[in-house]
Amino acid sequence: MGDKIRRIGVLTSGGDAPGMNAAVRAVVRTAIGNGIECIGIRRGWSGLINSDFVRLDSTSVSHIINRGGTILYTARCEEFLDPAGRDKAIATCKLLGLDGIVAIGGDGTFRGALALSRQVAERGQKLDVIGIPATIDNDIGCSYYTIGFDTACNTAIECIDKLRDTMQSHERCSVVEVMGRHAGYLALYVGTAVGATAVLIPERPVDFERDVVDKIRRARLAGTTHYMVVVAEGAGSAFEIATRIHDEIGIDPRVTVPGHIQRGGAPSARDRETASRMGYMAVQTLMEGKGNRIIAVQRGRLGDLDMEEALTMTKEFDMSLYAVLEAVTNGGSSRF
Ligand code: ATP
Repeated sequence: MGDKIRRIGVLTSGGDAPGMNAAVRAVVRTAIGNGIECIGIRRGWSGLINSDFVRLDSTSVSHIINRGGTILYTARCEEFLDPAGRDKAIATCKLLGLDGIVAIGGDGTFRGALALSRQVAERGQKLDVIGIPATIDNDIGCSYYTIGFDTACNTAIECIDKLRDTMQSHERCSVVEVMGRHAGYLALYVGTAVGATAVLIPERPVDFERDVVDKIRRARLAGTTHYMVVVAEGAGSAFEIATRIHDEIGIDPRVTVPGHIQRGGAPSARDRETASRMGYMAVQTLMEGKGNRIIAVQRGRLGDLDMEEALTMTKEFDMSLYAVLEAVTNGGSSRF
């Protein structure tokens, strides 16, 4: 055990993700159960700069485990990129007497946490920071899983299942754009789960003839009269893809972009459970006297990794699911 931790801050930053509230709740309840006071920093790093905070007790996090979004609000904060901005944040940490901060968010949020902790060290002080990965994109290199991914998949699936009903009736082609500017996890999981005719992801350079035209033609030959193309934001625009399908195959696809709907909603069982475990572990890690750590899932187990090292990690995109998708959806008798 390290020095006794007396008071910690917790914040959510970057894009929101279902399950962030469950993580905040776990941090607060674990801290309070161990005699540690908890301060909620609102609106991400900007809350530290602007002294925007709230004292959290056990009841302040009642009835939030089932709520999407984040009760602490979230934001992106340009000023925090600048050492002068972080100096203001350091002043707030000092004023509040924070021994540690649990930051819930993505890679950027963790880079901010590390920069803050280093700057505090340069001033001869100490602030332990712990990161909890939460983003619907599942694109954090050091962790196999990030809070919010499962809920976002289920939301997109529900939306596409509804589309499928009307597409079947009208014998149409749909192009659905799901979130994922740099990562195709959401598109690939969702595409596999709905039995999409084609899935386009940023990790696989798109060959339009091979990946779209040929797949729709095969499906048509197999007797299918409706087609579903799922595209990750980062692999192309759904509208442009629809236009190309129209020009090259002569059918008239309908485009659906669920957009931010994918970021909301009640967190799934998996996200509530993962968030609860990660929040609990974040506080335990601080109590062990460890700082600058990220709570991460590695080889199916939850653990804590050195933040600096974790930020250099990349996770290899698992193309085996793409092979499964191709085998079961486009293997000649293509029907979704
Ligand atoms: P998402 O996955 O939703 O994009 P994220 O945590 O990666 O989440 P960012 O917008 O990249 O989101 O980062 C959140 C905030 O963290 C930024 O607005 C900024 O305040 C801070 N931040 C990001 N990178 C740095 C950095 N290199 N140094 C200091 N602060 C940073």
